Amino acid sequence: VVSARNVRKSFGDKEVLRDISFDVPEGGVTVVLGPSGSGKTTLLRALGGLERPDAGTITIGDASVDFAQLTPNRHGRLPRAQREQEDALAAQSGFVFQGHNLFAHKTTLDNITEGPIVVQGEDPQSARERAKALLEQVGLSEHADKYPFQLSGGQQQRVGIARALALRPSVVLFDEPTSALDPETVGEVLTVMRDLAEQRWTMVVVTHEIRFAREVADDVLFIDGGVVVERGAPEQVILEPQEPRTQAFLKRIL
Ligand code: ATP
Repeated sequence: VVSARNVRKSFGDKEVLRDISFDVPEGGVTVVLGPSGSGKTTLLRALGGLERPDAGTITIGDASVDFAQLTPNRHGRLPRAQREQEDALAAQSGFVFQGHNLFAHKTTLDNITEGPIVVQGEDPQSARERAKALLEQVGLSEHADKYPFQLSGGQQQRVGIARALALRPSVVLFDEPTSALDPETVGEVLTVMRDLAEQRWTMVVVTHEIRFAREVADDVLFIDGGVVVERGAPEQVILEPQEPRTQAFLKRIL
């Protein structure tokens, strides 16, 4: 359901993604590991339509963009048809940020319904009903009317997850979803993510939580220096890494 082919991205003369290719099948969970600065966030943002690659093709669900074919003007603006193509790709994914990124002046429920109502034009009543079901799923039913500041970091992040799911994305992208949390709230967020994996949501997760990767991932992608160094089942990549760079990384974080 997700495919990246030969994706490249530079910032100035720094090549951050060099020819990255991988697939995530429907219902699959791919965990992306790699040292700081290896390009993990840039890759995820590219999948989510938050960063425009210089070349390569990204396909999610029934949307696809061949980035080498885009013709942005010098302000980065695309011709209309290309912009619509890019928007269609972005609409296929839900993004969970490192920080929760909630609207501070909106309640939990309104944070979740905002995207469906404003962006997708869903009827508010039905959006609210779905949001309540999602809140139940992430264990926050009794917090529907609270504001973000009234919630713990872990609860805020669970709202962030419900908000991403509310868009009914083909894939949910998680960018280090627990790295900004207090240690005692990390577990509740990982539990929600485990549940989603069990419900067969398609997920791409950038994280340093090796245990989560080992237990939940179908596929682990180790990237370093903007390339996929090693890829495979978690038992293989995490427990028996073949590449020296993967071995060195795992040694550092385990
Ligand atoms: P971390 O684990 O520290 O978040 P990462 O693997 O997610 O690292 P990226 O955030 O993708 O790495 O960044 C890869 C490289 O690209 C870094 O050297 C970073 O400084 C650079 N970079 C990222 N975004 C930009 C940008 N908008 N402009 C210039 N350089 C950038």
